[in-house]
Amino acid sequence: ETMINQIAAGEVIERPASVAKELVENALDAGASRVEVATGGGGLSLVRVVDDGAGIPAGELALAVSRHCTSKLSTDIHDIRSLGFRGEALPSIGSVSRLAIRSRTADADAAAEISVEGGDVSAIRPAAANRGTSVEVRDLFFATPARLKFMKGERAESSAITDVVKRIAIAFPAVRFTLSGTDRSTLDLPANEASPHGQLARIAQVMGSDFPDNAIAVDAGRDGVGLTGYISIPSYNRANALQQYAYVNGRPVRDKLIAGAIRGAYADVLPRDRHAVTVLFLALDPALVDVNVHPAKSDVRFRDPGLVRGLIVGALRQALAAAGI
Ligand code: ADP
Ligand code: MG
Repeated sequence: ETMINQIAAGEVIERPASVAKELVENALDAGASRVEVATGGGGLSLVRVVDDGAGIPAGELALAVSRHCTSKLSTDIHDIRSLGFRGEALPSIGSVSRLAIRSRTADADAAAEISVEGGDVSAIRPAAANRGTSVEVRDLFFATPARLKFMKGERAESSAITDVVKRIAIAFPAVRFTLSGTDRSTLDLPANEASPHGQLARIAQVMGSDFPDNAIAVDAGRDGVGLTGYISIPSYNRANALQQYAYVNGRPVRDKLIAGAIRGAYADVLPRDRHAVTVLFLALDPALVDVNVHPAKSDVRFRDPGLVRGLIVGALRQALAAAGI
């Protein structure tokens, strides 16, 4: 069982940022309004996520760390509203690290705690905590030393964690996120109202307060696919890394098709070595997109890639033209 989980971990947990992603997604699935992420050593010595969500009943803690146990089962794979649905993350993480989960539901008198060390699951112990869940992952890959060798430096791993938190935070503007670490990567994103205004406020918190003044709103649709968001004017010059955020039905995705469509839309107005800064939300019938391609779940496959590409290129060109660009 530990062996199977370690193999699964190879798929789901590539690096500390994968741990951060899985734990933050679990917190959001639990309806948290506050998600606190703490890291140490680029996430290799510590990733801890504390939330104020629904919590895990003491009687279900052992299930939460067993393979393919998910409390989020939906009958229709295309109608997945939660971010997680495979029941793979916690057992995978527990098989390659020292994992400790402490949780308390609203109606429980006390919290309970379970730990897993390199796949060995402890008994359930009583603990003291407020409502919500704290998941602590120490010494990632201590049980699989070969994996450790693939890690980049602490700084690279830290910035991958920061990127994961920012990416998810844009999709949940009403949730407060904090990120703290032993390095300089800290974030504090206060909660915003759940409205288009709050959405833009969150985007400004993540992208920089000068972004909204240098951005054009996009709002388009075609054949049942909706596209909203903000794109930078060509003169908006960000020297730092690529800042392109894309979401499909509220789920953060990384997708070559979307990146290529953005490049195409800006081809005439931006030099080849510069990138537009963009936040784009695609909304489409869940049957027309497969988010189930890879366990790490940031890939997507569109039923009609041409339609999506055409919509993005057309909508962005039109938005730029309407702004006189
Ligand atoms: P999945 O998210 O795919 O269900 P995970 O392995 O990530 O699988 O989590 C297993 C289960 O543990 C979840 O289905 C959920 O019931 C519970 N769980 C994990 N993290 C939390 C959390 N932060 N708050 C409440 N429940 C949680
Ligand atoms: Mg999960």
